[in-house]
Amino acid sequence: MYFEYRFILVSGTGSLMNRKDSDFVGSLRRVVGDAFVLEDRERVSDYLKERRGRFTSDTMAVVLPGSTDEVSQLIKLCRERRVPMVPQGGNTGVCGGAVSTERSIIVNLQRMNRIRKVDRLGYTLEAEAGCILSNLQMAAQDKGLYLPLSLGAEGSCQIGGNLSTNAGGVNVLRYGNARDLVLGVEVVLPSGEVWNGLNALRKNNTGYDLKNVFIGAEGTLGIITAAVLKLFPQPVHRSTVLIAVTSIDSAVELFSRTRKETSDFASSFELMSRICVEAAFRNIPGCRDFFDQPYPWYVLMELGDSTSDGISKQLNERFLEHAFEDGLIEDAVLASSDKQASDMWRLREAIVEAQLYEGKSIKNDVSVPLGAIKPFIERTVAALEARVPGARSFVYGHIGDGNIHFNLSQPRDMDGDEFFSRWHEMTDIVHEITDELDGSFSAEHGIGLLKTREMLRYKSAVELGLLRSFKAALDPDNIMNPGKVIPPAE
Ligand SMILES: Cc1cc2nc3c(=O)[nH]c(=O)nc-3n(C[C@H](O)[C@H](O)[C@H](O)COP(=O)(O)OP(=O)(O)OC[C@H]3O[C@@H](n4cnc5c(N)ncnc54)[C@H](O)[C@@H]3O)c2cc1C
Repeated sequence: MYFEYRFILVSGTGSLMNRKDSDFVGSLRRVVGDAFVLEDRERVSDYLKERRGRFTSDTMAVVLPGSTDEVSQLIKLCRERRVPMVPQGGNTGVCGGAVSTERSIIVNLQRMNRIRKVDRLGYTLEAEAGCILSNLQMAAQDKGLYLPLSLGAEGSCQIGGNLSTNAGGVNVLRYGNARDLVLGVEVVLPSGEVWNGLNALRKNNTGYDLKNVFIGAEGTLGIITAAVLKLFPQPVHRSTVLIAVTSIDSAVELFSRTRKETSDFASSFELMSRICVEAAFRNIPGCRDFFDQPYPWYVLMELGDSTSDGISKQLNERFLEHAFEDGLIEDAVLASSDKQASDMWRLREAIVEAQLYEGKSIKNDVSVPLGAIKPFIERTVAALEARVPGARSFVYGHIGDGNIHFNLSQPRDMDGDEFFSRWHEMTDIVHEITDELDGSFSAEHGIGLLKTREMLRYKSAVELGLLRSFKAALDPDNIMNPGKVIPPAE
């Protein structure tokens, strides 16, 4: 089922452009150059793809600015003509945040891909927003440093998109979300003014923390054009272990102990249910079972350190020994080579793709406090499977962050479209239980177009009022990614 992206305008304002305006497109061309304004359907099609096929996207033109000044000029033009604009990075987001309409332009930052500075002494990196995440990781690594932001889409997502969605990923446990990795940003505001907040200071207590207004704003408050990121010592030793446990309780208890016994060295602590790994074995070549019998739950844990003698492995071994003695672990395989470690990660990362082969799935990305993980999973599985008998709950996620990807696959004997038509009914069940347990209905993927309904439902009137005030103050003409994140007033 497709969701119409209905265009939402703040009352009292209206787009002056109801159809393609060649004068306007001509002025865009004068700013960035002919080669960087795309109108041809074939050339724009990649920018209109929506990963999960839930929204249709269209555009007047895709514009590729090459500098902050060009972004500023584009915004001024759009503001003058009340043309909505959709900032776009690698277009890998999964909530429809970069979806556009035929009356909007897409501003994709791919040409702004310069790494301005890697500071070895200060452990910082300054880069333009269009840099691909994996290129930044490599630039840090070349200097013996480490950029811990890491996620499945890292080969195509851009750092501007990562900051705008406050992306999480596999290392949040130790290093935090994208937000925690930023020291400064440069943003072009909906007025066209440039805010240069590119400082590299760890301490800067001079009033409101403005950068955090733009991080996670999903392009609704301005276009991020550059950022200064924190770097860390490159972990040269890693110790990866796949652990089999019989209950969620054991997994949660293990996590709590890991923190203490390994001095918070764990960078990842991932939970996978048996149904998830079975789907990977079935559908993804190269995925194999590491144990000689099935277990209901698995934990993939990784420690890393940059010391000369590599203490991760010793810490991991000692931790596993104690956990075995206390009966928390059924079995465990400690990776003995990089290849074995990457095979374990392959299993974890294959789950997303494996589920595609299991028919349609209704995806949820929620977080709950650690102590609520067990009741959350048990209550949600029971409620969903009672509502749609035969539906299969794929439960996995970054359990160390309380983040659970709760994906429901269609019953084998049900029509996929019929199952999909029950999206809201199913996600409402998940979100109600999440809310009752003081959790969040969007742990890491954001809001985009997909979850504005939940914003209305679960955010207080005070919070919605604050969000609308920020938006109205910065973007009174509602030209900056309108309709995303903030629900229209009822
Ligand atoms: C395989 C896969 C794995 C993923 N894994 C994770 C994960 O582990 N954790 C996680 O948090 N997310 C994950 N994601 C989703 C994640 O949010 C995005 O992949 C990424 O952060 C978005 O970056 P992007 O450059 O593709 O942004 P886009 O998809 O292009 O845009 C996302 C949003 O940011 C806005 N935006 C983009 N660039 C700018 C800018 N320069 N200034 C202002 N606004 C901008 C857009 O308007 C849109 O609202 C995954 C996605 C995929 C496909």
